[in-house]
Amino acid sequence: TQQTAAGLAPVQAVQADSEGARPLVELAHVEKHYGRLHVLKDINLQVCQGEVLVVVGPSGSGKSTMCRTINRLESIDSGVIRIDGELLPEEGKDLARLRAEVGMVFQSFNLFANKTILENVTLAPIKVRHMARKDAEDYAMDLLARVGVQSQASKMPSQLSGGQQQRVAIARALAMKPKIMLFDEPTSALDPEMVNEVLDVMIELAQEGMTMICVTHEMGFARKAADRIVFMADGRILEEGKPDEFFDHPQSERAQEFLSKIL
Ligand code: ADP
Ligand code: MG
Repeated sequence: TQQTAAGLAPVQAVQADSEGARPLVELAHVEKHYGRLHVLKDINLQVCQGEVLVVVGPSGSGKSTMCRTINRLESIDSGVIRIDGELLPEEGKDLARLRAEVGMVFQSFNLFANKTILENVTLAPIKVRHMARKDAEDYAMDLLARVGVQSQASKMPSQLSGGQQQRVAIARALAMKPKIMLFDEPTSALDPEMVNEVLDVMIELAQEGMTMICVTHEMGFARKAADRIVFMADGRILEEGKPDEFFDHPQSERAQEFLSKIL
């Protein structure tokens, strides 16, 4: 179903900003260990409003961990993380509020198996954003239409294909009206023929100005959608640059080796 993403209407308008782009996400000197494993090493990163950052790197390099620290699914040992200028706290109301600004889509779709597609998308807006049910349902139907699965609204997740479920997961994240979307290998668990229907939705989101951090091995997508590529290895950001610079002229040996294996 290639028409799925067509007609995707703007979800988040980019505001004209006379001061130029402001960082929506900032990580400064972030360090994290799992026991003796030093998994994030002096991570410094800024993602500006409307920017699409693609994170690549070998398995085990800390890409998922970095994403998970951005909404405190993982704690950090030291350093700071700011969301739209605000320090991400360890816990409490402010954490819940900031977390709601960050939509996350994982490799496994994690839809609630015992709820309909529509309920999956309306649950958090009603509970967390205190939206009226009718408003939440109207907005959810709008989002489901945008990702091309409105006709599935009353079905259960198991009745949908993997690609459809992942598009529902994207709609569910968008329903919270996040300022930024994190995607952690959203197409890795999909059958090959379903990869593009999900990437197409992501490309449209990017074109509409959504601020995005995407961990992916889909290099075609990275070249097309990314404003900037970050290459991670062994818990460090080793390279950062425009897609063409990175793919055509990787600087580090690790990046050259990585690209020679996947391209
Ligand atoms: P990537 O997403 O780049 O593949 P991850 O962030 O998942 O890398 O993992 C980085 C390293 O941290 C790996 O060595 C992994 O085994 C380890 N790791 C990830 N999660 C945990 C955890 N909860 N406990 C202990 N080690 C972990
Ligand atoms: Mg990972």
